[in-house]
Amino acid sequence: MYKLLTPGPLTTTETVKKEMMVDHCTWDDDYKQITQEIRSKLLKVAGASEERYTAVLMQGSGTFGVESVLTSAVDPDDKLLVAANGSYGRRMCSIAEHAALNYALYETPYSVRPDGEEIRRRLEEDPSVTHAAIVHCETTSGILNDLESVSRAVKGAGKTLIVDAMSSFGGIEIPVEELGIDFLISSANKCIQGVPGFSFIIARREALEQCRGRARSLSLDLYDQWQAMEKDGKWRFTSPTHTVLAFAQALRELEREGGVAARQKRYTENNRLLVEGMKQMGFRPYVPAEVQSPIITTFHYPDNFPGNFDTMYRYIKERGYAIYPGKVTDAETFRIGNIGEIYPEDIRRVLEIFDGYLRQSAGC
Ligand SMILES: *Cc1c(COP(=O)(O)O)cnc(C)c1O
Repeated sequence: MYKLLTPGPLTTTETVKKEMMVDHCTWDDDYKQITQEIRSKLLKVAGASEERYTAVLMQGSGTFGVESVLTSAVDPDDKLLVAANGSYGRRMCSIAEHAALNYALYETPYSVRPDGEEIRRRLEEDPSVTHAAIVHCETTSGILNDLESVSRAVKGAGKTLIVDAMSSFGGIEIPVEELGIDFLISSANKCIQGVPGFSFIIARREALEQCRGRARSLSLDLYDQWQAMEKDGKWRFTSPTHTVLAFAQALRELEREGGVAARQKRYTENNRLLVEGMKQMGFRPYVPAEVQSPIITTFHYPDNFPGNFDTMYRYIKERGYAIYPGKVTDAETFRIGNIGEIYPEDIRRVLEIFDGYLRQSAGC
């Protein structure tokens, strides 16, 4: 058994896992009620009102949710502007290509945030753009993009704003309604601390209404999924029942912790301890401190690092923690996540393990 210092799936509580010991009938009223409660709680987490927003749950991992939004909201004669600084931003371009959608890419280096002012300029220059999409926390590097300036630019230009908040929603406060986000996507196994199996979309009702009859996929049709779920909470096709029960419990535990503000505080403290301790041992963060998220951190190896990722990974795993390989393309790095059922004592412990690895390899 080891704990996960990864970007998800994460280490979850025993009580979340225990919920999965029940086989539930999807047709049952109790079960449908659980889905409706989840949807309404997600809106609260999003700071969005029932009048103007709704939450739709979608089978599959996070990417299925992103693909559902892009292929349901963007028409073939629309144009999508993707602001990307990592592989999840690029994945949105790949989805657009598969669905033969028009798109333009505004890319910045992985350690640099897309600039709201530049987005505003591009929207002005190309009036055919109808939608803009950005990743909030780019898990590729751990950089936290600036939703405020991006939403000001996109909503100021009257365009539809799509946000992949997969690895931040529930762990960082995002005032969805205040920012005017039209579609926000996240999934069950990230900061809400559930297990994998579905994604969810916080959608502005007016924007979702416009998706009627647009989708080019049957199973990922966001509008139809919403219409079916809106009736009585029954999912359109078989839902991941065990995951749904675990997620309902995870939401209760988020409330008990004190909501997103309290969770953000815990994650921020985890991250502060981690970065400070790693720097002392010579591991330099890849992303500048001002834009580092409290979610996951990319580290450079120190000079004269003994061994490689595999030897380090094995040493750490044998002592109770799993870290993550690097994903940025321009440097040799690895990543450590600090989300999930992880506390400062875990971070202190893992720093000791790193220290032990360096000492052992140095022959001390
Ligand atoms: C985890 C994640 C996704 C979705 O990945 P899946 O493997 O499909 O769950 C998308 N975007 C970001 C930023 C992520 O962190």
